Amino acid sequence: MHLVPVIGLEIHIQLKTKSKMFCGCDNSGEDQKPNTTICPICMGHPGTLPVINKQALEYGLLMGKALNCEIKNFSKFDRKQYFYPDLPKGYQISQYDKPICENGWLNLVIPSKNNLREEAKIRINRAHLEEDAAKLIHEVSHPERLKGVEGSHGSKLEASLVDYNRAGTPLLEIVTEPDFYSSLEAKIFMQELRLIARYLDVSTADMEKGHLRCDANISMRPIVDDAKRDTGSLPKLYPKTEIKNLNSFRSVERALEYEIKRQTKLWEEDNPPTKQSTRGWNDAKQITEEQRIKEEEKDYRYFPEPDLPPLDLTELKFNLKSMPELPQAKRKRFEEQYGFTSEEAKILTDDNKLANYTENIISELESWLLALGETEGTKEEIIEENKKKLNKLLVGWLVNKLGGLMTQHKRDIGTIKITPENFAEFITMIYQNKISGPVALKILEEMMLTGKDPSQIMDDGNMAQISNSDELETIIDEIINANPSEAEGYKNGKETLLQFFIGQAMKKTQGKANPQMVENLIKNKLK
Ligand code: ADP
Ligand code: ZN
Ligand code: MG
Repeated sequence: MHLVPVIGLEIHIQLKTKSKMFCGCDNSGEDQKPNTTICPICMGHPGTLPVINKQALEYGLLMGKALNCEIKNFSKFDRKQYFYPDLPKGYQISQYDKPICENGWLNLVIPSKNNLREEAKIRINRAHLEEDAAKLIHEVSHPERLKGVEGSHGSKLEASLVDYNRAGTPLLEIVTEPDFYSSLEAKIFMQELRLIARYLDVSTADMEKGHLRCDANISMRPIVDDAKRDTGSLPKLYPKTEIKNLNSFRSVERALEYEIKRQTKLWEEDNPPTKQSTRGWNDAKQITEEQRIKEEEKDYRYFPEPDLPPLDLTELKFNLKSMPELPQAKRKRFEEQYGFTSEEAKILTDDNKLANYTENIISELESWLLALGETEGTKEEIIEENKKKLNKLLVGWLVNKLGGLMTQHKRDIGTIKITPENFAEFITMIYQNKISGPVALKILEEMMLTGKDPSQIMDDGNMAQISNSDELETIIDEIINANPSEAEGYKNGKETLLQFFIGQAMKKTQGKANPQMVENLIKNKLK
């Protein structure tokens, strides 16, 4: 028998609609002055009536569809009652027994040898819409602010300020089945969810901004056989711990790791958890801490929201905007159509803009390749023959080199000035050995900043690679004559001096010499 973790996630995604979930207030309140994007509806004043935001509903349904959920024909909203200062109405409008989506799944690819499996099918229990609460800002107030405040004793008081701008912001809550085998799988699921939300353009899904956050549920379970591990075939589960409000991918992984160790120890001491508990992640201490005994469902006194009509989704679900190609399909296509490795495909599709840019470059590259007319054959044969090598160049220069330059100059794919056509020409120039690596980097930087095309930059700056052997020979003769003792040393077997000579040649030509030709020439001369 051995112990294995059982993990399920409850995720909140903040939808980037124009207005809030049930009123016309601006939904960009986090960037506005506190308590300015509020109205009597999101403040829950008596006599006001909520109205369902159709865009939020469509965004929710799109996410549900991307997660292979069943979109229900009938759905409704419910009131979940509890008291907290961030909840102006005294209840939250959520969905209880009739969510908009149910019974989905998402397949994950786990690129780690340490994980028990390479692929994981995670079932989605449900996805429902609800409104967010306000934001509490905890602070220790200063004496001046507390003059006359009872209980402050004129010194210090721990107080909370409330910014209601966030109250009423639309959220989609996604609940998974307890199908994760490891903290890594949970993290990868969150990353995939972020990517899907961004592809669908329904949320920025930034964890740092709290637009994507999750509660992670975890228990341990003794099993005999890993093959019978999925919860479907061995349904007995043990009381879980819920780790609230994780707001970074790293904390999802670390908090679960910590909890696995903590609970394993309890099991080994013959003292496994006997009741559910709620814990928080203390990022400074890197530990989870007990929070409170969780409310039970019955404590919330859910009942159907009387101010909102039930939802008939039969028509809406057929009129949704069409589903764009999702990240998984795009990755697969990048591998199959262009011959990228799975790592390359992953990097290039992790940002939809980068993926589109890459595809535009590739299509331009194909034109360049055919225009060169260097190889015989049909269009398909020429492309097939060259694409592996071109793709390697493309990924190296696009992701590593351009990526580095963009970080350095604080740019992104949306703000650089390089057209796909110019980038394709640039890659072709490297492919044809017209420019050397260091020179190419200079050209790329100028392309990014000015939008000029690479051949123009090369001509203007006199940067073409020197591949003329007569010219190179003269230069190398000069270097050998100027360094007789190094030349002697190399001839006597000190091979490390080869690099010295190559370096001298590159210096003398400002990086323009063709390095391979230089090496061959030096070897020949100093035989
Ligand atoms: P609750 O009634 O406490 O809200 P749910 O059954 O609705 O519990 O499940 C909430 C989340 O906890 C889901 O993501 C689910 O997969 C996960 N979960 C449920 N039971 C367990 C368990 N025993 N161990 C780990 N995760 C669990
Ligand atoms: Zn409002
Ligand atoms: Mg629940």
